Amino acid sequence: MAKQAFKAESKRLLDLMINSIYSNREIFLRELISNASDAIDKMYYKALTDDSLTFNREDYYIKIDADKESRTLKVMDTGIGMTEEELENNLGVIAKSGSHVFKSENEIKDGHDIIGQFGVGFYSAFMVADKVTVLTKAFGSDQAFKWESTGADGYTIEPYEKENVGTEILLKIKENTEDENYDEYLEEYRLRSIIKKYSDFIRYPIKMEVTESRLKEGSENEFEEYKEEQTINSMVPIWRKNKSELTDEDYVNFYQEKHYGFDKPLKHIHIKVDGTVRYNAILFIPENIPFDYYSKEFEKGLELYSSGVLIMEKCPDLLPDYFSFVKGMVDSEDLSLNISREILQQDRQLKFIAKNIQSKIKRELENFLKNDREKYELFYKSFGRQLKFGVYNNFGQDKDVLQDLLMFYSSKEEKLVTLDEYVSRMPEDQKYIYYATGETNERIARMPQTELVADKGYEILYFTEDVDEFAIKMLMSYKDKEFKSVASGDLGIDEETKEKTEAEEKENKDLLDYMKETLSGKVKDVKISTRLKNHPVCLTADGEVSIEMEKILSAMPN
Ligand code: ADP
Ligand code: MG
Repeated sequence: MAKQAFKAESKRLLDLMINSIYSNREIFLRELISNASDAIDKMYYKALTDDSLTFNREDYYIKIDADKESRTLKVMDTGIGMTEEELENNLGVIAKSGSHVFKSENEIKDGHDIIGQFGVGFYSAFMVADKVTVLTKAFGSDQAFKWESTGADGYTIEPYEKENVGTEILLKIKENTEDENYDEYLEEYRLRSIIKKYSDFIRYPIKMEVTESRLKEGSENEFEEYKEEQTINSMVPIWRKNKSELTDEDYVNFYQEKHYGFDKPLKHIHIKVDGTVRYNAILFIPENIPFDYYSKEFEKGLELYSSGVLIMEKCPDLLPDYFSFVKGMVDSEDLSLNISREILQQDRQLKFIAKNIQSKIKRELENFLKNDREKYELFYKSFGRQLKFGVYNNFGQDKDVLQDLLMFYSSKEEKLVTLDEYVSRMPEDQKYIYYATGETNERIARMPQTELVADKGYEILYFTEDVDEFAIKMLMSYKDKEFKSVASGDLGIDEETKEKTEAEEKENKDLLDYMKETLSGKVKDVKISTRLKNHPVCLTADGEVSIEMEKILSAMPN
């Protein structure tokens, strides 16, 4: 039996395409510019294999032109153009990608710069236009053609006079409706910002007439406006450059241009990975805490680019929560995108990149701590709390990543120290890592519970943040040394005093019983202690929850 081909109701299909694939109307320009860039890339690849053709960079560009009078937006390129047949195939058949065919036919192994693959981007023009006209002349052809369509009704193709090779796409922008504003797609300022946002790193110039103002000749305070053609995009993405070509200032400028923050970055991390999954990334550790950082409103994430085209403004999956303060971008050619190029098809590559980024950040922070202690402490003041939350969250599964990045105030050093520093200084007879919790360092220093430990010459870590003790409980131990609160019943010090206290306890049984009875319901036990020097009594806690933790837990809303 002869096989029948599926027939698609193209009207319905186009309608679906136009109205349901994209969540954001402004991306039509991204799609048209991407196609123009692909068309120029194809000329570039032709020149590689054709000796009679030289690729002069100056001759290749994209131009955007808006005319409010006629409500026309023009996207013009000097790329490879289309023949009549290609117009039929590529713009007449939905989901047919000439670019995809081009990549496979030319066996371009390194053709990852060509963006197109799904054959639907072009139709996004109908989100903002009620008529689209394509004027095109293919490379190597004498005849130009005009393709025109008002959307669902189909299209026409006819011969056309056009001097230069390349393509012009003319969009007749829709009239405003009560709920929708289309005028904005004819506004210079708006177009500029859309180009900057999505297409800043297209590798060919995107030119546009822009209005500038200058002092009138001979005048000191009168200004006049004038038009000037400018290249809108920055073209060379700095993440593709070599680190050796870039200065610290370049990174700072990039940070500020991208509005990652109003501050300056404390540190940048430039990553280039050329393995099974290729990607480039520039990451920043900000100097200041974003104002909403420790609030619910804060959204973590990195910008995600696919071959230089912005896909997602904040991709949360690229950063673990404990590194949510990191800003920056990732660009990869190897992402599997879905048809709208807005989200990812499957996240195997993304998972790989995320894992890779996480270990790079960890290593950078460790180096930072080792080589630039002062700045690291600045960083830690802002984001140390987030690292401690990271240890505590997910039942401590990330503690290995984070434990070496933690710092606490030390009674001995009177500054922040790492756990490694603490442990390496421990005298041989010291069994535990001691800590004390309180509101401020000064208050902790005056706590009676610290006396015995301090008297032994042992170092005590001061915990002044709510999260500290919770995090430490998740860690349990560091380098086989367990943590112990100075307020716990058994401090693990002075075994030989045990007998002495037992004898004293017997002697003073009446007093102890009296105290226990008086305080019944308030304390579990009353004991003789050897730990006190200058204070008559102190409270201690046994078990999982310390006095400080109990305070925090009972203050939490249920
Ligand atoms: P994709 O870019 O994913 O292939 P599009 O719907 O955006 O899909 O475009 C369909 C095809 O039309 C492209 O693959 C390309 O062959 C052709 N095309 C679109 N715009 C241009 C252009 N400016 N110059 C040359 N060919 C183009
Ligand atoms: Mg396309």
